[in-house]
Amino acid sequence: MAHGAARMGARMIISIDGPAGSGKSTAARKLAAKLGIPYLDTGAMYRAIAFAATECGTDFRDPAAITAVAKRCAIELDCGPTHTRVTLDGRDVSEAIRSMAVSQVTSHVARVQDVRDMLVEKQRSIGRRLKSLVTEGRDQGSVVFTDADVKIILDASVDKRAKRRFQELEADGEEASIEIIIENLQERDETDRKQWTPLLESGAAVLIDTTNMSIHEVVERLLSEVRKRGLIE
Ligand code: C5P
Repeated sequence: MAHGAARMGARMIISIDGPAGSGKSTAARKLAAKLGIPYLDTGAMYRAIAFAATECGTDFRDPAAITAVAKRCAIELDCGPTHTRVTLDGRDVSEAIRSMAVSQVTSHVARVQDVRDMLVEKQRSIGRRLKSLVTEGRDQGSVVFTDADVKIILDASVDKRAKRRFQELEADGEEASIEIIIENLQERDETDRKQWTPLLESGAAVLIDTTNMSIHEVVERLLSEVRKRGLIE
């Protein structure tokens, strides 16, 4: 059953940041469902642009070409407590953006600052419209929703994160090597972690290490953080 703060009309923004494989998507989705408020999957936006760029044969080494695609296409997110439906120029691409081919090129899109600026603005506008939401992505508490009511950073050991990624890929029928996954994770870690340091040092965000936690335990811990701030009973 939903905990119902949204029903009372209270604004509640919960940001969940963290490195790849820290379990933030599953945790964010489950937390949103428990609270009965929408879940904003910001990675889906970067994926949708990557998908559009792939379809029109864009050169992923050319930031201006990627920005042009981002400006041209209309991405809409229908965010519910248990689903995210993504449309690109009116076409449902919710499934298509999850393919390995799209995953591989999304980082090129995510590196283009003009695209990030556009998507940050879009995410803030969704936040203003929805008022309450659980938002997930590596810059949500640090850049996008700096005024979030609860800021969480999920982390886990690199081995655990690699194992989770490996299992996800296997479940999707994709071939993967644990060594390559570890290498990819380590490459991204350093830049990602820098932006969380100020939040953690100032006490603005709570760090949860999920290495030895089940998803149920993670969600319970998140609920307790929301409760501590008086946002739910
Ligand atoms: O979370 P997901 O795997 O769907 O995100 C896809 C990619 O989009 C990430 O690997 C990252 O490169 C990028 N991303 C980002 N900022 C966000 C969300 C996702 O750069 N807020």
